[in-house]
Amino acid sequence: MKIRLVYTPSIIQEPLIAEIILETGAKININRADIGAVSGEMVVDVPEDKYNRVVRLFRDKGLKISLLHQPIFRDDARCIACGICTLICPIGVFTIEEDWSISLEAERCIQCGVCVAVCPTSALALSEGEV
Ligand code: SF4
Ligand code: SF4
Repeated sequence: MKIRLVYTPSIIQEPLIAEIILETGAKININRADIGAVSGEMVVDVPEDKYNRVVRLFRDKGLKISLLHQPIFRDDARCIACGICTLICPIGVFTIEEDWSISLEAERCIQCGVCVAVCPTSALALSEGEV
């Protein structure tokens, strides 16, 4: 299950992911990490069977979390099937189908935001997730 984590300055230097992996044994997969000196954000995948415990620990340790059921949305009425997103997405969320339509596997998105920035019709948007 995909989650976005937001660090605050008071915890940015703490090895929180390592601590939670050791405490729970959960195989937490870091999809994307933007960590700076005073703030940071990560998108991680958490195994479903450990989800409740891991989320409780994230919160206890001071991380703000939001669950990303569908990390990216497309407004199909705006999409002109130009294909730019298929070229630029680093993990291949978009695919050109035989009929030239563009399919997407939204659940694989790591919210890098690149496709949102280049889509010529502003058809794409990142999800805020559920808090
Ligand atoms: S870049 Fe935008 S308009 Fe082009 S195929 Fe992707 S979603 Fe559609
Ligand atoms: S934000 Fe767009 S480019 Fe980035 S991973 Fe998600 S679908 Fe791909």
